[in-house]
Amino acid sequence: METLQANSLLGLTSQELTTLVVDSGQPAYRGQQLFEAVYRQRVETLEEISTLSNEYRARLGELGWRVGLPKISRKFLSSDGTVRYLMGLADGETVETVWMPEGDDGETGDGSEAGDEEEAPATGAPFRRATICVSSQVGCAVNCRFCFTALLGVKRNLTSGEIVGQIAAVLRDQGVQPPMQRVNIVFMGMGEPFLNYDNFIKSVQLLVEGVGIPEARMTVSTAGIVPRIHDFGRETVRPKLAISLNASNDGLRSEVMPLNRKWNLKDLLGAARAFPLRAREKLTFEYVLLDAVNDAPEHARELAELVRGMRAKINLIALNSGAELSYRTPSQERVAEFKRILVAAGIPAFVRRPRGRDIFAACGQLKRTVA
Ligand code: SAH
Repeated sequence: METLQANSLLGLTSQELTTLVVDSGQPAYRGQQLFEAVYRQRVETLEEISTLSNEYRARLGELGWRVGLPKISRKFLSSDGTVRYLMGLADGETVETVWMPEGDDGETGDGSEAGDEEEAPATGAPFRRATICVSSQVGCAVNCRFCFTALLGVKRNLTSGEIVGQIAAVLRDQGVQPPMQRVNIVFMGMGEPFLNYDNFIKSVQLLVEGVGIPEARMTVSTAGIVPRIHDFGRETVRPKLAISLNASNDGLRSEVMPLNRKWNLKDLLGAARAFPLRAREKLTFEYVLLDAVNDAPEHARELAELVRGMRAKINLIALNSGAELSYRTPSQERVAEFKRILVAAGIPAFVRRPRGRDIFAACGQLKRTVA
């Protein structure tokens, strides 16, 4: 449903843009010009679309069309180079988008991320690669007990234009020019992408065909909406899949992620095992470590048995804590021991380096903090 931003060019496919131009009396090729301008060139205003005549740009404006980029209302810069953007949407709502130069791309498979303490360049500086963490909803309806976004509740779904628009706005702000440098996208910001499935999938299509980011450089993370995991496996163009596991048995998982009462570990791991992986592709399981709750050696051993035999790796995330949460961050020693047990059991495991904790940009911290 795209009613909220019916007049936004961002969010329309090249086909839809072609229909739009033809309906307003223009030749069909102008649709492709609009598509190029909006996604490749990432214009902010109609005036910037130099391939169109002044007259037609004015006409589009009169018809109520605009590019529809979200407005960057605030920008917070971390000491590690991470930037948290507060994005203003057309209806006055806000979401957050995070830019991580040399970021964790959710791959961590080569071991180069964990403990990799290289200096990140400041905003605007050249980067070898970067990761953008994008939001899919305003707030979130999944009530994970350790996540700040959950405290907001869900306000609404984002349109596909608002999802792609976050990325276009960040690329523009960071001065990333086509041809694209290496940019990874993780759908791991505010919200549950699989509860906004159609708009999420459409945004992927626009990112691939329009912005030019390959699907293999994108990862979507779900809290475990099992029917959508099955649907997702049937998509022809899709990001890689990450699943937020966060507990090693049903009792514990239902406590920290109440949605486990609807889709339990048997359902979830069944869907994960049935998931059609591509050649060389791996599933990722995220596991947020909560001190003295799910981080004991026996949990690590239980977790190893849960995922045994799967083509999967485990990303361990030490809790990013805060006053509103009743959980604490485990010590580095406990995190290291948990990882050691997994690795010894033959399960690839990595500790995700926290990014932008000082500006409330790290995993689970997105709650639109403005101070
Ligand atoms: N709703 C999706 C997308 C969000 S991804 C999902 O749940 O997967 C955000 C990741 O951060 C998830 O793996 C989640 O488990 C993790 N997370 C949430 N709160 C956190 C916190 N306070 N500290 C560390 N990680 C957290």
